[in-house]
Amino acid sequence: MQMATTTSNIPGNVQWPQSLWAAQTPPGPDCPTLEGSAHADVVVIGAGFTGLSTALHLREAGVDVAIVEAIEPGWGASGRNNGQVIPTLSRPDPDDIVARHGAAGERFVAVLRDSAAALFDTVRRYGIEAEQEQAGWVQPVHSPGRIKIAERRFKQWSTFGADVELLSREQVRDMLGSNAWYGGFWNKTGGHINPLALARGLARTVLGLGARIYARSPVIDFERRGDRWVVRTEKGELSARALVLASNAYSGEFSKALAPDIAHEVMPVLSWQMATQPLSDNVRKSIIPARQAMSDTHGELYFARYDARNRLVTGGAVIGPGNKAERLKARVAERLQRLWPQIGEVSFDYVWNGYVGMTTDYMPRIHKLGPDAYGWTGCNGRAVALTMPLGAELAKAVRGVPENELALPFSEPVTIPAHALLRKLAPLMLLLYRQRDAREVS
Ligand SMILES: Cc1cc2nc3c(=O)[nH]c(=O)nc-3n(C[C@H](O)[C@H](O)[C@H](O)COP(=O)(O)OP(=O)(O)OC[C@H]3O[C@@H](n4cnc5c(N)ncnc54)[C@H](O)[C@@H]3O)c2cc1C
Repeated sequence: MQMATTTSNIPGNVQWPQSLWAAQTPPGPDCPTLEGSAHADVVVIGAGFTGLSTALHLREAGVDVAIVEAIEPGWGASGRNNGQVIPTLSRPDPDDIVARHGAAGERFVAVLRDSAAALFDTVRRYGIEAEQEQAGWVQPVHSPGRIKIAERRFKQWSTFGADVELLSREQVRDMLGSNAWYGGFWNKTGGHINPLALARGLARTVLGLGARIYARSPVIDFERRGDRWVVRTEKGELSARALVLASNAYSGEFSKALAPDIAHEVMPVLSWQMATQPLSDNVRKSIIPARQAMSDTHGELYFARYDARNRLVTGGAVIGPGNKAERLKARVAERLQRLWPQIGEVSFDYVWNGYVGMTTDYMPRIHKLGPDAYGWTGCNGRAVALTMPLGAELAKAVRGVPENELALPFSEPVTIPAHALLRKLAPLMLLLYRQRDAREVS
């Protein structure tokens, strides 16, 4: 028997972050909690982009799918990120991926190359309103020597047929309205989006296609019983032939028993996001006039994109005691004024944060968890675009497409030793990044 109730409360004292996106996005669909016992062909744990895209592709193929989400669709990284749609990994380039994973790596690179286009196509196909702008993504280099990074990316991605260009210092100056950078790498299929609107739009779309989403239903654990997977929550359980674990960097957030190996192979690092006041039209026209998304080569990343109301959505990092949000406001305002002196006074209307799942080699980790069960983690702050086609691949996997046809470069979970201690120390990596950022590369 399947029972479901609807309530507007979320568990315990969990709140939506006070983000720009939460403030300006219409509410998501009303979803029941999981109570009693339920069945599906495929169960997906987590309603971020990965889980929602997996469900979307399963429903397109007519497969019965149910998502079980701890809070609400988009509550995790998907609803609180910067919304830059970037069809690359953060550090590894195509040759690194192929060297590591061979033929599966080549298929993965092709998926990554097309990932931004796939996201914008999905949004168009289903009429999702998410303030999307396919304006391109640019990675300017912050020292003369780092033009090598742009050259390498341009060369490798060109070989794989990506729509990319190498930019001179003058081209970057014109594109970004700033003299701060020394050239750059431009991917024309990228762009930006309101990520929470995308998550909520996808949730509505998959419900419309006949999927089920159970919200406010943290999964405690899952296990194999006979030839089925059984997912357990406080008030119910759901049994399915196949399972996709899509809880990503938030895997350890609600239950330590959910997938400890996977929770412990990434470092959840807090990333701060902030949105300025809307810029005046004159100023806006002189800063990234064609509205590309931008993130540069600093380890302590400089990044910015416009929202639909001409706020610059950016962010930063701080360590140490004191009010982090207030310290960030001062630090990032000074940075914006240094990069774009024409910006004038800067104030921030929103400051929020979320966990980015970092791996030690900046590679994503994709796993086969058992018969007909898959999962992944390790977005390294770069998977708004990737999660769309990844969901398509995970959907193929649970439908029985042979592994040698999938663009899923599988690896075994490798947990980080002394995870709890290192999690406390991880913010100190910022000091190392700052040191490296200040040094020229040879
Ligand atoms: C602050 C920030 C900025 C970022 N900026 C960018 C960017 O600009 N561009 C880019 O490409 N990438 C960016 N990223 C990364 C990007 O947001 C992620 O790669 C992407 O959203 C991952 O989606 P996901 O569905 O895999 O995970 P999530 O969106 O985190 O979804 C996981 C879901 O699982 C649920 N869950 C967890 N545990 C349980 C449980 N026990 N039971 C049920 N449900 C559970 C969570 O509630 C959550 O909704 C950023 C990330 C952060 C945090």
